[in-house]
Amino acid sequence: MTRRFDVVVAGGGLAGSVAAAVLARAGLRVLVAERKSDPGDFNYCAEGVSARAIAPFHVVSPDLIAAPIDGGILGGPSTGPSTGRLSDPVRLRWPGAGYILHRDRLMRKLFEQAEAAGARCELNCDVRNVHRGASGQLEGVEISTSSGVETVAADVVVAADGVASAVGRMAGIDTCLELSEMFACAQYRLRDVPVEAGYPEFWIGDSHAPGGYAWVFPRSDREANVGLAMVADRPSANGQVATHWLKKFRKHRFKSIGKIDSYITGGIPVLVRRPTSSAQGVVLAGDAARSADPLSAAGIAEAMDSGRLAAEVVVHALSNGGPSEATLAAAASQYFQAHPRLRAMAAIRRVFDRLDDGEKDSLVDACRGAFHDRRIDEMDPLGFFLRLLRTSPRLLTYARYLR
Ligand SMILES: Cc1cc2nc3c(=O)[nH]c(=O)nc-3n(C[C@H](O)[C@H](O)[C@H](O)COP(=O)(O)OP(=O)(O)OC[C@H]3O[C@@H](n4cnc5c(N)ncnc54)[C@H](O)[C@@H]3O)c2cc1C
Repeated sequence: MTRRFDVVVAGGGLAGSVAAAVLARAGLRVLVAERKSDPGDFNYCAEGVSARAIAPFHVVSPDLIAAPIDGGILGGPSTGPSTGRLSDPVRLRWPGAGYILHRDRLMRKLFEQAEAAGARCELNCDVRNVHRGASGQLEGVEISTSSGVETVAADVVVAADGVASAVGRMAGIDTCLELSEMFACAQYRLRDVPVEAGYPEFWIGDSHAPGGYAWVFPRSDREANVGLAMVADRPSANGQVATHWLKKFRKHRFKSIGKIDSYITGGIPVLVRRPTSSAQGVVLAGDAARSADPLSAAGIAEAMDSGRLAAEVVVHALSNGGPSEATLAAAASQYFQAHPRLRAMAAIRRVFDRLDDGEKDSLVDACRGAFHDRRIDEMDPLGFFLRLLRTSPRLLTYARYLR
């Protein structure tokens, strides 16, 4: 007999688990279909999160924190031991700014919370197809498990299946991305490297990561997630993939290059336009809905919030006559309305994309003068702009791209 649910959530990652918990708490019958055998597996992440962004979820407990974040370090194209021009990166103190998480534990905890809220959570469960009736109405999904293939009936599908969102595509939503609309990433977990715990590093410049940035996120004073995010079709990438740039950055940043514990590659959608994120009976959430910050590419808290909002729209739709395309489309606009910061980040990204390495050096120089070794509340934004005006007035003309 066909099982019937109000909502099938495809993907038990961050967005999917949060969405499922909200839906189940509203009394809906929910199936979470997660293709992995352990929700914490395949940890494609640098694990950094802002304390403020994740606070509303009340999920961070001491066992989830690998290291606190109490500030940050900014390096420019010419910063660092192997170039000589600028020896010191900019160091900003920001006590309590965030955490480097044990992301695997966060994933498991959210999955368990969805289960505890009453959702039926199935592992090794792959959503293979989305079924529609003759007039296009959603009928359900086809799932594949160890016991075979099954068609499950549902009124709504929340596709929280990550950046590629094949489920979204099966449902008729164009989830394809241009190369310029995503960051291509590569990351090592490095051991035996000297880093400053509490101070994640961000290195901008096409000489480090074309169109993006490289990062060093310390998990202790000897271990760090060291990676980069780049735009693959940027001319300065010279057709080289993220792994090439990561190897180069590792040599640039560390005299003693340490040992590699793990290596991952992945993609993060960083759209500066609002994508379509719903179709009849289907709504996208998280990376599938392109919820990540278009500048920093932070997506953990963003995916969780996008899952929450998508679920709230579904609850509202189901208690008001059914999931029309129009009501589900509200999920996308609500997400962007609820996050004016993301619109601001998209505007800054439009400027950032136009800067050459010389201009990025000027930016870092101006930051050094105004922010170096200060606390976040002692920063001098006016001093920053005056410095920029003095050293690189052309940069200020890019302000027109902020609109
Ligand atoms: C290298 C790298 C580093 C990053 N670092 C950071 C960082 O430091 N901080 C930060 O905030 N963000 C970071 N991000 C971004 C962040 O990881 C993502 O934005 C976030 O994971 C998105 O969550 P999600 O739930 O939307 O998708 P995912 O976490 O990708 O979850 C999707 C889930 O769906 C499942 N699934 C997929 N297809 C199916 C299917 N057909 N059937 C059933 N299940 C399916 C998958 O197995 C997966 O569990 C990083 C990303 C990368 C690639």
